[in-house]
Amino acid sequence: MKINEDLITTDPVSMLSHGGVDVYALRLDKIHPVISGNKWYKLKFHLEEATQQGKSTILTFGGAYSNHIVATAAACAMQGFKCIGIIRGEAPQYYSHTLNTALDYGMKLIFLSRSEYKRKQLPTDLFNETIYVVPEGGCSTKGAKGAATIPYDHTQFDTICCAVGTGTMISGLINGKSANAEVLGLSVLKNNLSVETEIRKLLLLPTNEVQINHEYHFGGYAKHTPELFKFMNDLYNTTGIPTDFVYTGKLFYGLHQLIKKGFFKKNAKILIVHSGGLQGNLSQRKGTLIF
Ligand SMILES: *Cc1c(COP(=O)(O)O)cnc(C)c1O
Repeated sequence: MKINEDLITTDPVSMLSHGGVDVYALRLDKIHPVISGNKWYKLKFHLEEATQQGKSTILTFGGAYSNHIVATAAACAMQGFKCIGIIRGEAPQYYSHTLNTALDYGMKLIFLSRSEYKRKQLPTDLFNETIYVVPEGGCSTKGAKGAATIPYDHTQFDTICCAVGTGTMISGLINGKSANAEVLGLSVLKNNLSVETEIRKLLLLPTNEVQINHEYHFGGYAKHTPELFKFMNDLYNTTGIPTDFVYTGKLFYGLHQLIKKGFFKKNAKILIVHSGGLQGNLSQRKGTLIF
């Protein structure tokens, strides 16, 4: 299956729109069932570069539930690359849905203990001239350059709102925004204050403001509470928009709170970037989410 950007829609989000503030969701989750959302944009210039350099294999890094791992596996299958995933942690007895899907797409999985992974201590016989390395999460200037091409109507919105992990996507959105628009990121990690420094490294205009809210991480990366799941189910019931519990669920929840607190000016037109990642929900028990 190909990436199809024609499937992207900009959906009104009635549940979040109050007090004169209008919210629309940019449905990047629709471009492909597996390479969903922002991961495609962060990968595309890496794959182009690998082709130009005549490389046949893509190697990248991630955890056992990583959207980046599964997106890379599917994108490589689509474009005819071999691929290798370096996975954080010892090989589990049962593979996660993410790892099984990556295997189905032909990704070769190599497990490294957490300490080896931290030191990026790779088997030396792995490397040869056919391999192109994509950094974890696609985090690099190429990743940000891709995120700057996320398509939306730049004339319609005064605020662009997105989830922040490594900060690559928001860097691209800031680089690509029109002059009078603002970009607000909601961090999904706990107290990850250094992300602002990482974002600054990827900005084309150093004068651009970096606005990150750190209040809606729900305890940390991939942590969750019943309140988050209830919100995600309510959002789906009222708007038909499915979200994931690691990134977009927290983003929509946080934005809802900020709007209720009057954080935005009256008549603000907000675009909330649905960056995909829905495959992550498959790690939850059936019935937790209604979609
Ligand atoms: C990876 C991911 C993000 C975070 O993107 P960064 O560029 O790492 O900040 C946000 N949303 C989804 C669904 C993701 O998979």
